[in-house]
Amino acid sequence: MNHLRVRHALSMGLSIFGAGLALLGSSQNWPVCMWVGFALMFASIVIGLTVRCPNCGHNLVRRRWTLPNFCPECGQAIDGSGIEE
Ligand SMILES: [Zn+2]
Repeated sequence: MNHLRVRHALSMGLSIFGAGLALLGSSQNWPVCMWVGFALMFASIVIGLTVRCPNCGHNLVRRRWTLPNFCPECGQAIDGSGIEE
């Protein structure tokens, strides 16, 4: 399994889902819904911080909605195989 790709997808999905919940909660005046949304957005940021280049540690989530095939910093191929830890 490609852990880096899974974490990246999870981070992107949670941020969209969380933002949707927070917007829905604030428009419908559902504070619990809004706070759950904020919590999911926060979780997505924390997960996003772990999506890093295995070679140089450059964060691969910022400014990108898809995981790049190569690290923009050092050119390391990001295929995800065997790069966990
Ligand atoms: Zn790199």
